[in-house]
Amino acid sequence: MAPSTAVVWFRRDLRVADQPTFLAAADAADRALALFVLDPALLKPSGAARANFLYGCLRELDDALGGKLLVVKGDPADVVPRVARAVGAQTVHVAADYGPYGRERDENVEKALSDDGVELVRTGSPYAVAPGRVEKGGGGPFKVFTPFSRAWADHGWRAPAGTDASTCTWMDPSDKDGGPRAVKVPDDEPVEAELPQPGESAGLARWRDFLDEGVLDYESERDLPAKKGTSGMSPYLKYGCVHPRTLLADLAQHRGDSVKAYRTEIAWREFYADVLHRRPDSARENYDKGFDHLPLRTGKAADADFERWCEGRTGYPIVDAGMRQLRGEAWMHNRVRMIVASFLVKDLHIPWWRGARHFMQLLVDGDLASNQHGWQWTAGSGTDASPYFRIFNPITQGERFDPDGDYVRRWVPELADVEGKAVHQPWKLKGGIPEGYPAPMVDHKAERQDALARYDQVKAAR
Ligand code: FAD
Repeated sequence: MAPSTAVVWFRRDLRVADQPTFLAAADAADRALALFVLDPALLKPSGAARANFLYGCLRELDDALGGKLLVVKGDPADVVPRVARAVGAQTVHVAADYGPYGRERDENVEKALSDDGVELVRTGSPYAVAPGRVEKGGGGPFKVFTPFSRAWADHGWRAPAGTDASTCTWMDPSDKDGGPRAVKVPDDEPVEAELPQPGESAGLARWRDFLDEGVLDYESERDLPAKKGTSGMSPYLKYGCVHPRTLLADLAQHRGDSVKAYRTEIAWREFYADVLHRRPDSARENYDKGFDHLPLRTGKAADADFERWCEGRTGYPIVDAGMRQLRGEAWMHNRVRMIVASFLVKDLHIPWWRGARHFMQLLVDGDLASNQHGWQWTAGSGTDASPYFRIFNPITQGERFDPDGDYVRRWVPELADVEGKAVHQPWKLKGGIPEGYPAPMVDHKAERQDALARYDQVKAAR
């Protein structure tokens, strides 16, 4: 008798360890076909950095599976049923996707598969607790982070699934007759940024380094962009090279405030995924509709200011350093993400979604839920929003979180010879602003007043 075959369709779970879908596929059939679909609808808005990181992850996954990953380009609603038909699969196994696009895509694929009598089996998700699961005592979603994080911790999560590449017997995709042809993982696109090493083994190695060397100082160093005080796990979490369950299980072996602080950051990621799942419109629109009344700048002058912000030529050193780190590493330190976002929205009065789109094009860890809600938090229009009147001052933020000026000097070579924290106010230097560096494009104090006046319109409409 011919062996039965299941399809394992990888998406944001590019790893072999801690893979509940492998267990489900091994239960369902004698062997499994590993599939990844290069979906143009997702690749297009990704940007080259994220695309290259993805391709690197796919190459490593293919190696781990003994060269048996079938990579096909096209619309998953066509590709997945065609592949399932070609190998005679009865089940297609995935980790559930809760993003607005992924959910709709999966419903379409599920419908197309069911026409052939094939089942789409969802096991697990990219989160420790699947979005939508954590509810208030009386039912309904949390709109504020702190009670969510408590209920999330009380809900708990499973231990990592003990899987590896040998959990399934992988079918050689060249064995099948007909069906869509495999394509090679595309070659890397040219990118300006130096990217982290992609893939599961690099992700796990980074995590082990952080556990050994960084986690105990996380609380005191996580806000200092000149230090390597954070884990750098975000791109690996984005593509599921490492599952958050694995991180949480390892953290449980350690004690202390820093460990607690790190767990809280993982909870933020889960909170934003929950919020986006329940309010998919918040990917593009204000979560708090009151902010639809906030007057914002559009037109040619705003476009020119937006360009200066993108280029890192605002004349505020910490903002410029952040925007240049984004180009240089396709990543930006969290503290600086908040500072540059506040500057765009509250000093330049430009809509948050323009900045969010720019971030999504450049970030190697670009994640719709964390990015859009990180922006909305800073803009004041999101859940839990920092009060609108808390406007980040780019000078005092720089002096507080980059007290020696090392971060600015690393990214803004025009200021490389300015010593200490004086680097945060180059217009005060005796010799004037160093050559090549711009004067501040706006006066922060005046723009702060303007932002507050604009906010009055939101208050008036409530
Ligand atoms: P660590 O400090 O080591 O944190 C560990 C993990 O916790 C991170 O990898 C991440 O998964 C999660 N985490 C930490 N802080 C946050 C947070 N504020 N919100 C949600 N999750 C968090 N994160 C993304 O992963 N993708 C994005 O596209 C993204 N865009 C952002 C945009 C703005 C405007 C802001 C303010 C924040 C954004 N963040 C985003 C959150 C945060 O900046 C990054 O997760 C963090 O800088 C990644 O570096 P790390 O892995 O070293 O973080």
